[in-house]
Amino acid sequence: MPSYKAKAIILKSYKLGESDKIIKMYSSEGDIISAVAKGSRKVRSRFGGRLELFNLVDLELTTGRNLDVINQVEIIKSFKNIASDFYKFVFCEIISKIILKTQVPGGDQSPLLFKLIHVSFNEINNTDPEDVESLKKIMCFFEIKFLRITGYTPLLESCSKCSRPLKDPYSFHENKVCFSVRHGGILCYKCADSSADRDILSASDYRFLFDLFNLKLEDFRDMEVNPGSLKRVYKLIEDYIIYHTECNVNSFKYFKKIGI
Ligand SMILES: [Zn+2]
Repeated sequence: MPSYKAKAIILKSYKLGESDKIIKMYSSEGDIISAVAKGSRKVRSRFGGRLELFNLVDLELTTGRNLDVINQVEIIKSFKNIASDFYKFVFCEIISKIILKTQVPGGDQSPLLFKLIHVSFNEINNTDPEDVESLKKIMCFFEIKFLRITGYTPLLESCSKCSRPLKDPYSFHENKVCFSVRHGGILCYKCADSSADRDILSASDYRFLFDLFNLKLEDFRDMEVNPGSLKRVYKLIEDYIIYHTECNVNSFKYFKKIGI
């Protein structure tokens, strides 16, 4: 059987049989890899702790009929603060879920998506302990960039129903902006009046959303956002992902459970 090398981020692992694990990863080439790590659940496994969740690893694998087999693995980077912080772990799990529910092995290869996962895990790893607001901000950043990379970008500068371009969208309305998850973006005044399913965003919600799309991580990191806008925009982006992809993220249900 042919073997190959890969650099990948570990997103999920499952038990298999008595002592094996199935590891799901996203590779730097932009593909899902599912592979077996034989004997990895044995106390004296040759893999040690190298196959822990969210590690960035270098691998040597053998192509299998159904699943590939991991022969060797070396850690490039382990995000140690994620494993030891419950909230960081929860947010990284949400990212993993979005990737694994929307991407299929051999699908559209996206090295940009790998870069985004890597940058997001790194940012989560470096956040102060239990800083849930910053974690939510990073999640908004991840989800918006994810939508852009996968081609689900919402329309923010023209009406998503009638395509009318909106002049100076950054300040086109002082008080509120209507957004339709179903139509995939903002609505002009005419369409907003006739559309029943719409979310109303305040001017600061809209600006946050607009900036999320347009800012690089370095600029975004220092951006001030009020907690109300963060909550509304987070919910809006999540509803958008649930509606337009097959992934039922529903992190809010989970947040309620863990009290954040
Ligand atoms: Zn319109």
